[in-house]
Formats: sequence, structure tokens, C-alpha cells
Amino acid sequence: MPTALLDTTLNTDTKALAEEVAPLAIRVIRSPKRRKTAAAKILPDCIEVRVPAGMAPDIEADMVAKLVTRLERKRIANAGTPNLAERAAHLAQRYNLRQPVSITWAEQNDRWGSCSSLRSTIRISTRLAKVPTWVLNAVIVHELAHLSEPNHSPAFWALANRYPHQERASGFLEAMSGGHCDPCHII
Ligand SMILES: [Zn+2]
Repeated sequence: MPTALLDTTLNTDTKALAEEVAPLAIRVIRSPKRRKTAAAKILPDCIEVRVPAGMAPDIEADMVAKLVTRLERKRIANAGTPNLAERAAHLAQRYNLRQPVSITWAEQNDRWGSCSSLRSTIRISTRLAKVPTWVLNAVIVHELAHLSEPNHSPAFWALANRYPHQERASGFLEAMSGGHCDPCHII
């Protein structure tokens, strides 16, 4: 057991924070013992996926992606609905962005988020209640950045990209919507 790698001094707050700012890394182990099936589990520092050795790289990548998505969905299904106000306050402080007056869940199927920079209000699609934390955070930071820059200019992206996983989150959301969803709407 690699117990030396585990920092037993971590308290739950630190763990929650660590999960908020980074998606778990994925470790692929190619096992000669496996023939066709793969298995994945969540470890403290990564998602470990065991696949049969000698697979074609594209088939292996596909298998790993499917297992990781399934595992993340299961983990999210077991968690409660995130508190948007608390999360937005934390992210605004952490990335030095404007605090919103309000941020609420809304039934909106054609976009992930919307904001009014005049009123400093943000609405987040209820479809994001069950995505990984780092994806929801990326959308919140995107909308927070619009409170200062109500456009998609380079100045806007300089603010939004203070959150380091914007690009990976975009990929996740694009796959989730089949590419038919606008990222956001600015009023
Ligand atoms: Zn936007």
C-alpha cells in the first residue's frame, strides 16, 4: 500500500477545496490478466482504470472515457444539489472576480448560464446540477467574468481563464449537449 503518498493531515475542508479546483487525474493500468473488460475506481488522488493490455489506442481511449464518465455520474448522483451562492462567493474571491448580487438555478435548456451585468445577476441551467464540480465551477467563473466583461472579448477570456479547467469543461459540455448548446447568454 502506498500509504506514504497519503497526507493524513488533510482535513475535510482542504479535501473539498482540492476537489473544487481540479478534476481527478486519470491513471490507466494496462493489465495482461484482463481479456476484454475494463474496470475503474476512485482513489484519493486519481481515477484508476484497468484495461486489457495490447488494445488499439483509440479503442482503449474510448473505453477509458466511457468508464470515467460513468464513474463521475455515479459519484455525482450520490451528492446533493450544489449551493450556488456559496460556490460563487468562494470562486469570485479565489479568482478575484466581481461578486454577483444573486445566482440561481433556472430551467433553461438552450444555454448553460446567463447573466445580467447591469443587475449583477446570474442564472445557471438546472441541467448542470449533476455535472462534475469542476465543470459547474467553470460555468460559474465564465458568468462571473461576464459581470465585468459582458462580451467574449480577449479581456473577457483573460478573466474567465483564471479558472484553469475552462477548456476541458467546454469539451465536457459540448459532448454532453451534442454540440447544440450555446455556452451562455449575456443580457
Ligand atoms: Zn459567455
